[in-house]
Amino acid sequence: MSKNIPITVAHGDGIGPEIMDATLRIIQAAGARIEIETIDIGEKVYLSGNSAGIAESSWDSLRRTKVFLKAPITTPQGGGFKSLNVTTRKSLGLYANVRPCVSFHPYVATKHPVMDVVIIRENEEDLYAGIEHRQTDEVYQCLKLISHPGSEKIIRYAFEYARANGRKKVTCFVKDNIMKMTDGLFHKIFDEVALEYPELISETWIVDIGAAKLADTPENFDVIVMQNLYGDILSDVAAQIAGSVGLAGSANVGDHGAMFEAIHGSAPRRAGQNLANPSGLLLGAVLMLNHINQQDVATKVHNAWLKTLEDGIHTYDIYKEGVSKEKVGTREFADAVIARVGQVPSKLKVVSYHADDEKKMKPIVYKKRPKAKKDLVGIDVFLHWDNGTAEELGNAFSKVTGGGMKLKLISNRGVKVWPNGQPETFCTDHWRCRFYSVNEGEIINHKNIIDLLTAINDSGFEFIKTEHLYNFDGEVGYTLAQGQ
Ligand code: NAD
Repeated sequence: MSKNIPITVAHGDGIGPEIMDATLRIIQAAGARIEIETIDIGEKVYLSGNSAGIAESSWDSLRRTKVFLKAPITTPQGGGFKSLNVTTRKSLGLYANVRPCVSFHPYVATKHPVMDVVIIRENEEDLYAGIEHRQTDEVYQCLKLISHPGSEKIIRYAFEYARANGRKKVTCFVKDNIMKMTDGLFHKIFDEVALEYPELISETWIVDIGAAKLADTPENFDVIVMQNLYGDILSDVAAQIAGSVGLAGSANVGDHGAMFEAIHGSAPRRAGQNLANPSGLLLGAVLMLNHINQQDVATKVHNAWLKTLEDGIHTYDIYKEGVSKEKVGTREFADAVIARVGQVPSKLKVVSYHADDEKKMKPIVYKKRPKAKKDLVGIDVFLHWDNGTAEELGNAFSKVTGGGMKLKLISNRGVKVWPNGQPETFCTDHWRCRFYSVNEGEIINHKNIIDLLTAINDSGFEFIKTEHLYNFDGEVGYTLAQGQ
């Protein structure tokens, strides 16, 4: 018998303490070999003046145990408070968010009786880098950062997960018809990595129609890998259409630790009433038990839970007259699961986890790519300007030259408006002005740019930011303006 594994536990806010108590009672009754270190996170910590929602000392426990079972927390409304989830994921490098979404027909009402989808969401980058700026009176920006390592790691994780878990297909959702470089990179890496897994079917959908298909015919999907924002939204949709957000657990996995939780929040209105369904957190704990190689316990807990659902013992959120047999509270539900430890469901599929499942997943290693030859060929200068039409701006601004560079075009919110813009295009006060060398195609340097910006400054135009235009190994490293 293996020794007890230390884990860090946070009881959270709202319904958190009740569902955590239920979850711990169940896994301990099933023989979990764990040693619990309890930490405080959430509302109490935020309101004590700690804007991160977690005390410095709690990081020591997390760094020591590297395994975190976390109940939901309440994020106080208003500015200044950082999302503890985002902080924990990023600080511990938990780049993969795994969310199994399964339906339990006919025991839990769902329009999708055959659904068993695992969503694998990139957890660290995309618009969640949180880099936002107000640039003019009218325009705000949020940077979407997609990296080669970030994309490759999550895509490899998805294929390794599929292979280790006997899955047949990996689908990628992207929007590369619009975001040709960021989502284009994700798609390209997906196609490259897929070649290493010929036994798995791989396919890519544009995220909008992919989402519609997922909501309509989830039985056609198996493992789906997505960037952060798409994954955040669509994993909630998938969990809800499977039956209830209250039934889904998730794992956040990285090279230096893992965090396990329910996908729902702290449901403050239900707190303290012995009402909440502990199933999401319990299934999060099942993922944790597998992660710490206690597959025997994970199997027992999962089957006892399935048997409880099948026996019609349901909390209020999934209780349905005619389907359910008994409406119970959080504590009684936990008691019912504990009473069934050792039993298996008779109709729902029996679960069986094996000691080598986790090991079958090869470590996800990112091999740094060779550096490309990078040539600076131009610059986009962004102006805050509100004195007239695009034509007027173009006529005045094209007279400004410096550093051997000249204005090629102006766009507004991505659409070319000068030269030869359409009079109907609505323009804001935020203009992107693209400069190339007078001899277009010629490589320039930072001195050229400084001279150009000095000339712009001297001319009285207000520039608010710049973006360099590079070619990488001769390939254009920026998009053309719509209409360029
Ligand atoms: P929520 O998920 O807490 O609750 C929405 C509704 O879903 C509830 O009113 C309830 O009817 C139902 N519900 C959720 N979990 C349930 C359960 N286990 N059993 C039965 N019913 C359940 O979402 P919200 O109301 O938008 O957010 C409440 C708080 O939770 C906010 O402060 C939010 O920031 C926080 N939150 C935390 C996490 C997290 O810690 N991981 C995630 C999401 C939201």
